[in-house]
Amino acid sequence: MPTEVPSTSELERLRAVIRGAVQGVGFRPFVHHLATEMNLAGWVSNANEGVVLEVEGSNQEIRQFLVRLATEKPAHAVIHSLEPVFLDSVGHSGFTIRESGDQGARTALILPDIATCPECLKEILHPANRRYQYPFTNCTNCGPRYSLIEDLPYDRARTTMKIFPMCPDCQWEYHNPQDRRFHAQPTACPACGPQLALWDREGRILAVREDALSAAVKAIADGQVVAVKGLGGFHLCADARQESAVLALRQRKRRQEKPFALMVPSLEMAKILCEVSEMEGRLLTSAEAPIVLLRRRQDSSSAIAESVAPRNPYLGIMLPYTPLHHLLIKEFPYPMVATSGNISEEPICIDEEEALQDLKGLADLYLVHNRPIARPIDDSIVAVVEGRELLLRRARGYAPLPVRLGGEAPRILAVGAHLKNTVAIAHGDQAFVSQHIGELETARAFEIFKKTIASFEQFYAFEPELIACDLHPNYVSTHYAGDRNGTLHPVQHHYAHVLSCMADNDLEGSVLGVAWDGTGYGLDHTVWGGEFLRVTEAGFERVAHLRTFRLPGNEKAVREPRRSALGLLFEIFGEWVFDGRICASLQAFTEAELTLLKPMLMKGIQAPITSSAGRLFDAVASLLDLRQIMTFEGQAAMELEFAATGHEEEGQYPFEMTDWEPMIHAILQDFQDRIPVGIIAARFHHTLAEMILQVAHAVGEKKVVLTGGCFQNRYLSSRVIWRLREEGFQPYWHQRIPPNDGGIALGQILAVMRQSSGKDTGHVLSGSR
Ligand SMILES: [Zn+2]
Ligand SMILES: [Zn+2]
Ligand SMILES: [Zn+2]
Repeated sequence: MPTEVPSTSELERLRAVIRGAVQGVGFRPFVHHLATEMNLAGWVSNANEGVVLEVEGSNQEIRQFLVRLATEKPAHAVIHSLEPVFLDSVGHSGFTIRESGDQGARTALILPDIATCPECLKEILHPANRRYQYPFTNCTNCGPRYSLIEDLPYDRARTTMKIFPMCPDCQWEYHNPQDRRFHAQPTACPACGPQLALWDREGRILAVREDALSAAVKAIADGQVVAVKGLGGFHLCADARQESAVLALRQRKRRQEKPFALMVPSLEMAKILCEVSEMEGRLLTSAEAPIVLLRRRQDSSSAIAESVAPRNPYLGIMLPYTPLHHLLIKEFPYPMVATSGNISEEPICIDEEEALQDLKGLADLYLVHNRPIARPIDDSIVAVVEGRELLLRRARGYAPLPVRLGGEAPRILAVGAHLKNTVAIAHGDQAFVSQHIGELETARAFEIFKKTIASFEQFYAFEPELIACDLHPNYVSTHYAGDRNGTLHPVQHHYAHVLSCMADNDLEGSVLGVAWDGTGYGLDHTVWGGEFLRVTEAGFERVAHLRTFRLPGNEKAVREPRRSALGLLFEIFGEWVFDGRICASLQAFTEAELTLLKPMLMKGIQAPITSSAGRLFDAVASLLDLRQIMTFEGQAAMELEFAATGHEEEGQYPFEMTDWEPMIHAILQDFQDRIPVGIIAARFHHTLAEMILQVAHAVGEKKVVLTGGCFQNRYLSSRVIWRLREEGFQPYWHQRIPPNDGGIALGQILAVMRQSSGKDTGHVLSGSR
């Protein structure tokens, strides 16, 4: 299935909030003209936060509208941020310019960091300009924001730029209302602003200013790894064409196979490497400038070292988004690995002294500067699914922009889950969701988590009355929540997933939530993850779940698909599974390992029961001998997805509602019969889609919400969406908020809002199929 299937003729409604220099520049008449010309109904209005608009049309028309909005906008309009969200049609007729409403943020809004604007780019490339080759050039329309704000209100004295007094030239610009840098808080120039330096592994200065940049470029071209201090933290950079350079980076980072993101010089080069749709092109060149997951072109594989993204049909690509990156890539006009400078899944490094320690042994050189970074902000990751944007990691360019809530909320702090942690606060009728923080596995990650909460509280003069956390008693975020003043509200993990997806789609009323992920603490204290929740105004009911099995070795099973497979087979065959090495999964263990695992399963010790869909994916990847031990989270499921992609296969396996046993028998048979793994993988995905269909029919809710980490899988998502639509259901999936645990904090806010309104009585545990 293509990633961007042609849309159905069904009407969709786009709502977009556009922030930036969009008022008083003819933006609303432009939108009116464009929509009328394209025959799209809807409205446009000024709001406190910028311009808000809605248009209705087919998915394809709306995509076209979005692209034209960005490319044909009035000369003086500058877009700092554009957040599109696709909603159900409400039957607008005609197109109107509405009276300016008093809607939107009245609270001070913290803007995300904005990619370099065309004017600033022109200046740094023009030899006669006083900012020629100056890597910290910015203006009111671009540059750092959230990454340097220390407090509100937003002015220079409360940013990390306070240590750089402006020179007379910069002051003149700053105070001149006609100038593009009028009140541009981070403005600077070579005479007064931050400067570059190149350090060796010990932190000795090798070069400064332009020389530092040239030497860093030369090192990258020579196959070295250079740590580059950018906007929201350090990148580790290497020549993406040189196998040896990328391999060295992998070995040093102990990152065996997880794909690296690339920075490429231009949209044109992105198009040489990958297939780029108009929507994807708009994202690449947007002010948010995220990493966009793009399908590789078959003919371009030789242009990139194999180890950039081994056996992966996609590449994560971004364009340069700061003057520093533009200058780097001007000297080195080739694809460059630009991966987060961190250890495993920790927050990205932001301080050069810290980087010398934390990235020791990883980087050969350090290209640093003396503008402090207020907080780590990773690159955001976006994919286009079914013609809509899907954020997989919400950070630079997006955080901490608010999500509108259905009504006024009490003061809630939500601390999120454990993996891919984010935090959120409810303030008035909005929720502010933090940037991606990461796995709360280390002391440093926990420190950043606490700092992020503290800065939110400071920015919004906010003291929470209610604290939302995960139901899991042992998450560090839960412990933290328990230590805070305020009423504690533990929220079931999958309920939070469903609510976050509902908020993302402006949904109310009752829905069937399909929350599939790796792990989440269940009401019955087992590990949930293959959940079907009916969510109504009154709370939720677990109406069905995938058949459970045991995970031998608990935490270890998360990294070892063979353990999931063993648990699954034990559930089917019992003790007999140990009698022979009946399949690849069993063959992947040593005799000694099996001797240890057998009593675990037999006695149910260290082998918790799970309904996890993520572990079911792992188990099948193991049965097909695709992956027995993972080198990064989600790898096995990803490999199954990639295996399934691109086949003409339409088949599926037998199953009984949410019982996978008939399917597993059939998979084992197919594998034995040497049916290609890709075909089996496709049939497996199709079967899961049919399970969802069958439960949806049995439950009878028309609206079906797809959420949880499993729906990062585009093959699964597309299949389920397509089948649900075919059978008359209305599927919803994520857009601005990640389907993974990055969305949990927002869901927790929604849960507490419902509970505190008194209607939501909490949870019902019944009807499990
Ligand atoms: Zn600019
Ligand atoms: Zn200056
Ligand atoms: Zn989850």
